[in-house]
Amino acid sequence: MKCPNCAQENKEAAEACRKCGRDLSIPPAWFPDWRWHARALSVIYTVLVIAYFTVSFALRKMPEPFHIRKLPPEITPWLKD
Ligand SMILES: [Zn+2]
Repeated sequence: MKCPNCAQENKEAAEACRKCGRDLSIPPAWFPDWRWHARALSVIYTVLVIAYFTVSFALRKMPEPFHIRKLPPEITPWLKD
């Protein structure tokens, strides 16, 4: 097996690398490559775009905002000219 630290070829049953002494019974750590990052970012971006359109669609279905509604002049006498 190949040493994950120095790439030295070792015996399949070796417990430690014969060049750098790394413990070969420990599996090498996994580091995400650029493909993994691109896929994760595209999934996050897609979810955000879908959430944006869902929320904007839901907001358009709601009644008009309160500040646009007409208030009767009896309850707002200070707004009269
Ligand atoms: Zn090694």
